[in-house]
Amino acid sequence: MPELPEVETVVSELRPKLKNKIIKEVRVLLPKMVAVGPETLPNLRKTDESVALNFAKTLKGKKITDVSRRAKMIIIDLAGKFAVLVHLKMTGQLIFLDKKHLDKQLRLFNIETYKPVRLPAKSTHVIIEFTDGSRLYYNDFRQFGYLKLVTDEELAGVAELSGFGPEPLDKIFTYREFEKLFKKRPNASVKPWLMDPTIIAGIGNIYSDEIAYYAKIRPTRPVKSLKESEKKLLFKGIKKILQDAVDHYGSSVGDFVRPSGDWGTYGLLHKVYGRSGEKCKRCGTIIKSLKFNGRTGSFCPKEQK
Ligand SMILES: [Zn+2]
Repeated sequence: MPELPEVETVVSELRPKLKNKIIKEVRVLLPKMVAVGPETLPNLRKTDESVALNFAKTLKGKKITDVSRRAKMIIIDLAGKFAVLVHLKMTGQLIFLDKKHLDKQLRLFNIETYKPVRLPAKSTHVIIEFTDGSRLYYNDFRQFGYLKLVTDEELAGVAELSGFGPEPLDKIFTYREFEKLFKKRPNASVKPWLMDPTIIAGIGNIYSDEIAYYAKIRPTRPVKSLKESEKKLLFKGIKKILQDAVDHYGSSVGDFVRPSGDWGTYGLLHKVYGRSGEKCKRCGTIIKSLKFNGRTGSFCPKEQK
C-alpha cells in the first residue's frame, strides 16, 4: 500500500507533466472507479454508468492547474471550480506517457516473473487523454482506489481530507509539535501509534518499521514509556526515513510504480520491513517479526529495546 513517500513521488513527478495540460477525452473502462461529489466511497461499490458519463463529460476541455497532496490523497486542480481527488488505496497506479511513448512496455509489478505490458493493461480502469496526445492511466489491480470529481466548495466536506495529524515532512512540524502528540493515545504501542493518521499523516506498515529501527525502539513499546532521548530519535527517524524514501522515489514492494513506469528504489534499503528471518544489516542478528494489534512489526531484537 502506498505511503507518504510513494504518494509524494507520484505528485512531484506528475506536477510538471500535468500542469497546463488540457483534457481532450476521458475514458472510464470500469465505472465504479470514478465518483462525483464529496461522499466517502465504500471499498466495495456498485457500478453507475451515469456517474461515469458525468465524470467524463465534466472533465472534457478542462485545464489542469496544479497537482498536490494532503496525507495520501492526490489533488489534481482544474481551472474553474473543479478538482479531481485520486486515492490509490491498496494498489492504485497513475502512469503518465507522452505521445511518443504510448507503446512503452511497462512492468506493473515488481516481481521477477512479471512480463512487461503495453497500456491499457487489464488493470487499467481510467484513461485521461490530453490535447497534446499524452495520456494519464489509472490502473488498480484490487480496485479499492478511486478518482473523485468535486467542486472547490465541496473540498472542505471530503471526509478523507480531514482529521489528519501533521504532515511529517513539513518544516512547521518541529520537535515541539511532535512532543505534543504524545498526549494522544499514550497507551498505544509505537508502531500503531506511528501508523495512526490522526496522529501523524502518511505513515504505514513499511515506514513505521523502518522509523522504529532507526530510533532503536521496539515497535511493541507503549509510547508513554519512551524517554526524552528516545522521543528525539523517533522524531529524527520520521524526518530522515521519510525524506530518504522520497529521495529514492518510494519503495516498490509489490505494485508501486512511479508515473514514469519506473520503480522506486527505497525497497533495496529497507533495514527491517520484509526482512524477517534475514540478518540485521548492522549487527547481524536475525530480524524478528511479531504480530500484534492485527499488524506485523519487524525489528532487530538486539538493537531495538
Ligand atoms: Zn541489529
